[in-house]
Amino acid sequence: MNRRRRIYEGKAKILYEGPEPGTLIQHFKDDATAFNNKKHEIVDGKGVLNNRISEYVFNNLNAIGIPTHFIRRMNMREQLIREVEIIPLEVVVRNVAAGSIAKRLGIEEGTQLPRSIIEFYYKNDELDDPIVAEEHVTAFGWATPQELDDIMALAIRVNDFLSGLFLGVGIRLVDFKIECGRLFEGDMMRIVVADEISPDSCRLWDIKTNEKMDKDRFRREMGGMLEAYQEVAKRLGILNENDRPAGSGPTLVQ
Ligand code: UDP
Repeated sequence: MNRRRRIYEGKAKILYEGPEPGTLIQHFKDDATAFNNKKHEIVDGKGVLNNRISEYVFNNLNAIGIPTHFIRRMNMREQLIREVEIIPLEVVVRNVAAGSIAKRLGIEEGTQLPRSIIEFYYKNDELDDPIVAEEHVTAFGWATPQELDDIMALAIRVNDFLSGLFLGVGIRLVDFKIECGRLFEGDMMRIVVADEISPDSCRLWDIKTNEKMDKDRFRREMGGMLEAYQEVAKRLGILNENDRPAGSGPTLVQ
């Protein structure tokens, strides 16, 4: 099964050659990493949950006309995607102060921001993904000014959609990260949302209790990471008995 050609292996995912030209298979591993791989553990079943949650989000984005690389989920851990040229930026959208912005600007975690803020980080492990300005992005040619406009428009649309989606199931979308890629179709090129959108790449807080339902549980050694991801899936209505991952079963929060 895994004799397919491996194109790339990252911290949480592997990309294999797809069945047709222009396609790839994205495989979700159980590896949880933080602080640029300094903290690393295997969380049994995380890959299955992220595959399902990301499938759900990307299907909905496609359905409302936000272009993505996603084609379809293939099995518990894999999805078929379009091959894109990844733009080397982590695009972060923030609604509430948390994590690095809280630290950098001395804002108390949980403070609502005056408006949604978009930030760019240069994807480079050796440099620990430094924050960069639009000036750096265009001057160094990571994206053109037109592409940057498209990326920001996509990021805002994804934020609006995700904020509503999660609000509807009692979850506050504090912030999230997306990656974008260039999709070439004939002699046309457009920017699409790539990678994954899951509790690994979002901060999700319970509306009522502010309980963290995301990777901060792992980063901050709080425990209960898998249970929190299961709860997100359950609230989105996508956790059914058959795809319950190995490890502990879903536990009811509340
Ligand atoms: N994020 C991510 N991958 C990274 C860095 C950040 O998915 O390599 C996400 C993170 O989960 C959060 C948002 O981007 O939802 C903002 O992260 P932040 O800059 O606060 O950094 P952190 O505190 O996670 O190091």
